[in-house]
Amino acid sequence: MANVIPEIDEELCNLCGDCVAACPQQAVTIENNRLVLDEERCAYCGDCEDLCPTGAIAVPYEIVVVEEPKPHPPSGDAMTAEEKSDGATSDRSDR
Ligand code: SF4
Ligand code: SF4
Repeated sequence: MANVIPEIDEELCNLCGDCVAACPQQAVTIENNRLVLDEERCAYCGDCEDLCPTGAIAVPYEIVVVEEPKPHPPSGDAMTAEEKSDGATSDRSDR
């Protein structure tokens, strides 16, 4: 997968530690006065982005909601389609 772990703006990060405490994956740590993300642990949940008070951390993707597929037509229509298919097959076999 492409690298989609959160991006950190070190200019904005004040090392408050809120994201470290909130990350459900323990993917964020503060080491040597820098925020460090563990790509292997990150689940891309976006919690860190949501709670960061300075907007210093952002997950570089958008969640796209895909609509549920429409239900199949009533069985009567399905039968009609099947019949049509059978008719097409018999047409071909006649040739
Ligand atoms: S919550 Fe924001 S400001 Fe605080 S440590 Fe995380 S990225 Fe930095
Ligand atoms: S996106 Fe979720 S799992 Fe990844 S660092 Fe942020 S809070 Fe942790």
